[in-house]
Amino acid sequence: MAKLQEYYRCPVCDQRYTILANAIKCRNQHQPRKELWAIGKDGKGVKVNEHCAPNSYGSAEWALEEADKSDFISQR
Ligand SMILES: [Zn+2]
Repeated sequence: MAKLQEYYRCPVCDQRYTILANAIKCRNQHQPRKELWAIGKDGKGVKVNEHCAPNSYGSAEWALEEADKSDFISQR
């Protein structure tokens, strides 16, 4: 006869476990993702895409310049 089985899913990688402690261990082993942001003189934050070529759209150089510019076209 069929039976019910409870599973515990890791909320990060979606792996399924029958033992809660194993699911918790799995969740805790995942490293936080690192992000690099440029913060402008007025506090504006622009995320850097670390896979971009230097000086291109999305690069650190571009983000540093963009962070110091206003979001209002008329003020740029
Ligand atoms: Zn996991």
